Amino acid sequence: MTVFDLTGRRALVTGGAQGLGEGMARALAAAGASVVVADIQDSGEQIAAALPSDGDRKHAFTRLDVTSEADWERAITEAIAAVGGLDILVNNAGIEITSLITEVSPDDIRRMLEVNILGTTLGIKHGLRAMRPGGAAGGGGAIVNIASVAATIAFPGISVYSATKSAVDRLTRVAAMESGKLGYGVRVNCVYPGLVPTAMGAGLANDMATIGLFGSPDEAVAAVVDQTPSGRLGTVEDIADAVVFLASDAARFVTGAGLPVDGGMGM
Ligand code: NAD
Repeated sequence: MTVFDLTGRRALVTGGAQGLGEGMARALAAAGASVVVADIQDSGEQIAAALPSDGDRKHAFTRLDVTSEADWERAITEAIAAVGGLDILVNNAGIEITSLITEVSPDDIRRMLEVNILGTTLGIKHGLRAMRPGGAAGGGGAIVNIASVAATIAFPGISVYSATKSAVDRLTRVAAMESGKLGYGVRVNCVYPGLVPTAMGAGLANDMATIGLFGSPDEAVAAVVDQTPSGRLGTVEDIADAVVFLASDAARFVTGAGLPVDGGMGM
């Protein structure tokens, strides 16, 4: 057993039905955790059913719209009942709507604020309530929020998305401070992923071309790679492994931190 081992831990991953969240669910399960996949897409049920397991270890799916407080209350209760507790919460669910700032619509701004800021805030709120002493789980733990390299640099076409991810960064710091000062025993950190060609990442490259910032999606990707010292896009596993690290005892003295996992793009 190593300090990265998550045997006996219980994790919930929002937005776990596809993309980075699906990869995080797989990586946490591979490290030994029981995982609850939480998503608005019912296909998360198949993702949970296919997670690596052994012996009696259970995984589960719960339907969760992160913008709904009632959903959070039900999902946390269901998750604790399904896997026997809660030690790790990954606030991964997020949306990105590409637009020049001169063209962005109030509806699109509100949608990004709702999912990325309100959703993450409610996740931190209910995660801390459940994991702190006296909570429904009560044994402390770790929260990992998914921000973005966009929180640390200026890339065209994603102004509001970038603003919401900067908010995730600040939420992380204040939550870590409150959790520490109030003796909750919950570490709170965030990750800044670089561009990964999931549905969201590939969609962003297409949208950048559509709104005229680049000649083609390939040119948009080439611009990102050119700005990245590691010389490539990220993979789902690159990001998932960083989440496992922050969730594990290997990060036992790490809280209130933002970890770039971007090949150096944001330095
Ligand atoms: P994705 O669009 O492929 O997957 C997002 C998942 O979140 C989906 O399963 C979706 O159903 C779920 N979701 C959306 N709204 C939800 C809601 N209201 N409640 C519950 N679930 C909801 O995106 P991804 O690329 O996997 O991104 C995951 C996270 O990583 C996001 O927060 C994103 O901002 C962040 N991120 C992605 C990249 C990238 O390049 N892919 C880079 C930096 C940060």
